[in-house]
Amino acid sequence: MSRPPRFPLALDRLDSGRAAPERTLRPQRPLQQAARDALHRASPRAQAQGLGLDSEAVRSRMVARLRAEGLRCEPVLQALAQVERHRFVDTALATQAYEDTSLPIGHGQTISKPSVVGRMLALLFEGGHAREHGHLGRALEIGTGCGYQAALLLRLAKSVVSVERLKALHEKAREHLAAQRGADLRLVWGDGRLGHAPRAPFHSIVAAAGGDALPEAWLTQLAPGGRLVAPLHDEARGGQVLLVVDHRPEGLVRQWHDAVHFVPLKSGAQ
Ligand code: SAH
Repeated sequence: MSRPPRFPLALDRLDSGRAAPERTLRPQRPLQQAARDALHRASPRAQAQGLGLDSEAVRSRMVARLRAEGLRCEPVLQALAQVERHRFVDTALATQAYEDTSLPIGHGQTISKPSVVGRMLALLFEGGHAREHGHLGRALEIGTGCGYQAALLLRLAKSVVSVERLKALHEKAREHLAAQRGADLRLVWGDGRLGHAPRAPFHSIVAAAGGDALPEAWLTQLAPGGRLVAPLHDEARGGQVLLVVDHRPEGLVRQWHDAVHFVPLKSGAQ
């Protein structure tokens, strides 16, 4: 069968060469494992509950793998270890939540794979403000989606504004992020191409959807010392590429980074 491996097989794969089931357990819990295996066979909902029990261990393996692949930004790695990605996707997909894969979040949209989210946040951390202050300051996210990246940003920034154009996803993110009530988070339903003037300027701006041009508002809402990271289609570079813009004393400085594949930045809210 050529179906992609699923939890707990994902653990086996990460631990290649070792006897897997015992490695996923805390000591002396074989009966619990057996019960969990039975639950896994029983229903998708039960699978998600089973994953919930073990998710910390699975997440730390995901983080170890991202570190081994070159992600070296400790605050970002820590946030990735803390945020329960499986709670942001459909129950049926929860078993894949800690594989390095993008996943559908409904309405034709996807949540980016952890390595890409980690890469973008690490790029933000290399901006002037973040290097000086050790955090992302006031952050703006365009494309809230299911709210996963906003949850990561909350651990890395002083405040977060996240804008989503699709009302259904905006509301879904609201539910997913309800537990973060104490945090300085503002979820906005609207066209993120306009940024969010009431809370501007921002030290960190990150877009989770890519267009053909950078909206002017993002550049005008970028604080001095701030950094913007966004996917942008660039014909000369053969597709979508991550663009970094720094607001330096001498002006806006652009750098092109990795080739990426994000959903399109669309206009208007619906
Ligand atoms: N950061 C998200 C990923 C979302 S995918 C997460 O962690 O789940 C990108 C999102 O950008 C989609 O939900 C899409 O609807 C949204 N989007 C596209 N164009 C937009 C725009 N102009 N303003 C706000 N959101 C937009």
